[in-house]
Amino acid sequence: MDYSRLVRIYEELSNTAGRLEKRDIISNFLSSVHEKNLVNIINLLQGQNFPEWDSRKIGVGTQIIIKALANTSGISIGDIDKLWADIGDLGKVAEKILSNKKQSTLVSNSLTIKGVVDRNQKLAEIEGSGTVSKKIDVISELLSSTDAIGAKYLVRLLLEDLRTGAGIGVIRDAISETYDIEKSKIQRGYDLTTDLARVAYIAKIDGENGLDKLKISPGSPVKVMLFQKSETFEGAFDKVGIPAAIEYKYDGFRLQIHRNKSKIKLFTRNLEDVTNQFPDIIEFVKRDIDSESFVIDCEAIGYDPKTKVWKPFQEISQRIRRKYDIENMIKEVPVMILAFDILFLNGKSLLSIPFSDRRKNLKSILKSETLAVDIAKSLHTDDISKAQKFYESALDAGAEGVMVKNLASIYKPGSRVGFGLKIKPVMESLDLTVVGAEWGTGKRANWLSSFTLACKQGDEFFEIGKMGTGLKEKENDGLSFNQITNLLKPNILNEEGRNVTIKPSIVIEIEYEEIQKSPTYSSGFALRFPRVLRLRDDLNLSDVDNLSKIESLRNSQRARN
Ligand code: AMP
Repeated sequence: MDYSRLVRIYEELSNTAGRLEKRDIISNFLSSVHEKNLVNIINLLQGQNFPEWDSRKIGVGTQIIIKALANTSGISIGDIDKLWADIGDLGKVAEKILSNKKQSTLVSNSLTIKGVVDRNQKLAEIEGSGTVSKKIDVISELLSSTDAIGAKYLVRLLLEDLRTGAGIGVIRDAISETYDIEKSKIQRGYDLTTDLARVAYIAKIDGENGLDKLKISPGSPVKVMLFQKSETFEGAFDKVGIPAAIEYKYDGFRLQIHRNKSKIKLFTRNLEDVTNQFPDIIEFVKRDIDSESFVIDCEAIGYDPKTKVWKPFQEISQRIRRKYDIENMIKEVPVMILAFDILFLNGKSLLSIPFSDRRKNLKSILKSETLAVDIAKSLHTDDISKAQKFYESALDAGAEGVMVKNLASIYKPGSRVGFGLKIKPVMESLDLTVVGAEWGTGKRANWLSSFTLACKQGDEFFEIGKMGTGLKEKENDGLSFNQITNLLKPNILNEEGRNVTIKPSIVIEIEYEEIQKSPTYSSGFALRFPRVLRLRDDLNLSDVDNLSKIESLRNSQRARN
């Protein structure tokens, strides 16, 4: 199939606002798609070059694309940079400059869907010396075999930022519509396989029966169950019922451990395959877990090898991406596993048995008393004061808080169901100013976004992190992008590409989850998950919080660790 047909669908989707209309556009299109193209098409409709669980990355940044665009169009990199700062979307930049291209270099428009996928996959494989120039060549070739609109979407596909407004939900509904299968069955298939293209293929070839037969299988990642938040135990008990399981909430990273005989795989919460980064965990799994067929849900947490005290997440986060020098990392930043759920054991799915039974199954295969693999510390209770005491002991032990879980619930992959709730301390909010920002892209092109926050000491301001959450797109609903942009614009000191430097002028109240040490910002600290609470137009710059206050908040937080 020609790539230009898919481009027409992308355009239609981009020009259509309604969700149902978008669904119908996709569904009409899918009814004419041959099975041999279906997998590629569904991936491309999602703006993905690979299935979601696939850890391959195209590894193409904006700079490479700009160079390829310069190559293809003959326009200078500087001019393309300017256009990009103006338009804010590199896809649109590609469309604009390639539609200006002289007719003499008439494009052949011969690109097929398979051609796009093959070349995009090839980009992921290029490595070693000359990588950048080889990638530029592949992209230039792609760009010159399609027209301007095709180029717009090619660029967006390379950046994995398609912007057709048709998310996974709309595509799922379109698959359901096309093959006349209930939405919930398509969703179930997706949660079990994390691969909507595979689900669509099964739906087309084997229908509902085929989907019903899909089951969890060690080796292919399953969407993790997510949790909601609760401020109090009263609220949590109300929601999950009593007695409930209260568990330590460890501050590490989520890991799904799969074993099928000698094959062991590790996936993160986003289902990234991190098996190669953790040969130590693979050893623990072989040594300390007494089964050869399972899928376990757990938290990997770092600890100090001398004191055995747990380390906060940011100190082990480097291990997740680290691809070299792993042996040293294992010594410097050792990790242990705290298991809290099990989805599959000895050939059987455990998704639909109650949590309390899953936990018994989990316990039965963990060899006890090993430091490397343990079960999450837990208390079953219906008594608020006991729950509160347990929570305090969790914080004293260095945990982040607790989870409160329904003992009878099934494991529901992919949903933020109320089967478990987290309770953790809320950090005191901070009053900060803004010293930098970035112009947004796409429909946010006229707004500033991604704000650099700063605290102060004496007359000097010190950066303490970047924040883009909590702002509203619409007016009258809290602090909006438009409002903050209008406030900051007169104070812009300097612009470079999309980055702007801003003279401190406003005060905003920020909440966050934690204060971390960070070499990135001039204060030496970074806020974890900062979000804006409100504009403090009742305050002025002298009220911006001091670095020394941040240091002492960080110390009180560390006292728990
Ligand atoms: P949050 O990331 O704040 O939404 O909290 C949920 C995360 O806490 C999960 O995704 C796990 O990574 C982590 N976690 C730590 N301990 C537990 C536990 N005992 N049960 C479930 N999740 C836990």
